[in-house]
Amino acid sequence: MSRGDKLYEGKAKILYATDDPALVTQYFKDDATAFNAQKRGTIVDKGIVNNRVSSALFAYLERQGVPTHFVKQLDERSMLVKRLEIVPLEVTIRNITAGGMAKLLGIEEGVALKSPVFEWHYKSDALGDPLINDDHILAMGWATAEELAHIRAESFKINDALKAFFRERQIDLVDFKLEFGRVIGPDGKPTTHLVLGDEISPDTMRLWEQGTRRKLDKDRFRRDLGSVEEAYQEVLRRVLGNT
Ligand code: 5GP
Repeated sequence: MSRGDKLYEGKAKILYATDDPALVTQYFKDDATAFNAQKRGTIVDKGIVNNRVSSALFAYLERQGVPTHFVKQLDERSMLVKRLEIVPLEVTIRNITAGGMAKLLGIEEGVALKSPVFEWHYKSDALGDPLINDDHILAMGWATAEELAHIRAESFKINDALKAFFRERQIDLVDFKLEFGRVIGPDGKPTTHLVLGDEISPDTMRLWEQGTRRKLDKDRFRRDLGSVEEAYQEVLRRVLGNT
């Protein structure tokens, strides 16, 4: 499977065509951005960590019955994934207050929530991924009511699975972001089959070491906390079980 034309370049990843129109290569870069790309930098070997962590978590979720775009890890920095039509929404699930929710409600970080909080955000860098509700999505035609119900149910299932996964590794899953897409069929058109896409990595989750609450995620970069590379490597070690 040779790497073909560049289809899309985002802030942290590049998508390349493959010989199969239904499959693409997702390549992970070391580039790091925060606050809608106002802050830019590099996290050395982040692409390697995020590719390996995402590959392991997608494989784990598939074993738990969650369909994803993941096909297989190809090399250090890339994975083979199903081609998707990405739904222009970001789902956030929160278990402990932090970041956007702490700011939105004026509450401190680190408060355990009585039940998980599900949020829809419109995927737009220019607007800062604003918080929206179901009515915005239906009114704009970004997804159907059936799709929203499906994504919500899948997201809670993913939260349960990931919380258990990280608990065993002495990490609290504070919150995370997910993206879903419609699988592109052999005719090149989107099907009704919705799967989890994008990545699941320390770039897209908040992970706190149990007990110490040491941050093991992108907040180290966003907030200039130092030891960013070490934190990413620590997550990789724990995800792969080499503790
Ligand atoms: P918050 O809304 O608190 O900023 O983010 C909640 C969670 O979703 C965090 O784990 C954060 O890393 C992730 N997240 C939300 N939006 C984005 C985004 O645009 N890019 C990335 N990489 N992660 C995001």
